[in-house]
Amino acid sequence: MAQALAHGYLSTDRPRGCRLRPDRSQVVNGDATVVRPPSDQTEETTVDEKTGEIRHHRVDHDAGLQIEGGDRTVYGKKIVSQSVRKAGIAHSRIILNVDAARHRSPEEDPNREEEASVALRLSHEILDRAPGVLAFVQDTVWRGKHRTPLIARGAIVFTRQHDGATPRALKQYTYRPHCSHDVYSATGRACERLITVDGQTLYNPLPVRDLPTRKGTKSWRFYHLVEIPCPHGPHHELIPVYETHEDRAPDPRTQRPRFNRTEHLRQIPPATDYGARYLGFRQDSESLHSTLDFTHHDKRVPAYGTDGALLVFIGLAWVINSIARARAQPPPE
Ligand SMILES: [Zn+2]
Repeated sequence: MAQALAHGYLSTDRPRGCRLRPDRSQVVNGDATVVRPPSDQTEETTVDEKTGEIRHHRVDHDAGLQIEGGDRTVYGKKIVSQSVRKAGIAHSRIILNVDAARHRSPEEDPNREEEASVALRLSHEILDRAPGVLAFVQDTVWRGKHRTPLIARGAIVFTRQHDGATPRALKQYTYRPHCSHDVYSATGRACERLITVDGQTLYNPLPVRDLPTRKGTKSWRFYHLVEIPCPHGPHHELIPVYETHEDRAPDPRTQRPRFNRTEHLRQIPPATDYGARYLGFRQDSESLHSTLDFTHHDKRVPAYGTDGALLVFIGLAWVINSIARARAQPPPE
C-alpha cells in the first residue's frame, strides 16, 4: 500500500480524473482465482481392483470444486486479491491486498468468510489507508448489500448488473394534468415505463445528465440527475443511487428493508459508455491469474492447504510489486 501511494497511485495529489472517468491509477480492481492443489486426489487410500494393492495419497483438505469465471469448474482453493495499475504501462500493477475465501459451508470452514465478504473487507482496509480511491471494480459476487457500505464511504462501485433483478416501481412524477411519468428501476438504472401501441411494456432508460455527489455528516450520497422526456418539455429529477434512510427502514408488512436500492440502481449503469470503460478494467485480473497459473508446473501451486497457497500468492505479489517498483525508478545515469 505504501508503495502504491509512493508511485502516485490512489493519490489525491495528482490529476485523478473524475468519478465517471477516473484515471486508471485510482481504480482498485478485485477478483478471485482458484488455485489448483498439487494433486486432485480426494481419497487418502485407494485399492487397485485387480491386484488388491493399497495406495496412499496426499489429499488437500482445503480444496474443493469451485466455479471460476462464471462457468468453469476447477478443483482448488479460492484466493481473493485487489490490485491497481497505470493505464498503458506494462508491469505497473501493484497488488494491494489478498486473502483466502471460504468456498464450503460455514460449518465445514468456520474461520473464513466467503468471497464477496472477503473482497469487501479488503476494500475497507484499502480505503482506510488510501482515502483517495475513486472506484472499486469487482465481479458479480458483489450485490447491493456489498456495494452499499463502500458507496457510503464515497467510492464508485462498479460490477456487472446481476441478471434477474425485476423492474421495480420507483415513483410516479406528476407535473400537471395529463403529464405524469411512471419511473421504474430496470437494467440497473431509472427507466420510464411506457406502453407500446401493441400493448407491450417498455422500460425506456432515462438519460442521466449528471452524477451529483454530496458529502453528508455520516456518509456520501450519490444521485442521478435524470431527464424525463415529455411533449411539454423535458423534466429533470434527482434520483438517489445510494441507500437512503427510508430504504433501510423496515416495511411494516414484511419487516424487511423497503428497497434494496443499490441492487437496482447503479451509480454507473453497466450498459453505458462509462460502464463499458469500467468493465474494461476487469481484464487485468485475468492476466494476473494466468501469470500465477503459468509460473507453476501443470498450473498447480505446490502447496497443500489454503494457508500454503496464500503464502505462494503473497510471494507472487512480492515479485510483481518489486517489478513495478523497479520500472518506476529512473534508469541509472
Ligand atoms: Zn411530462
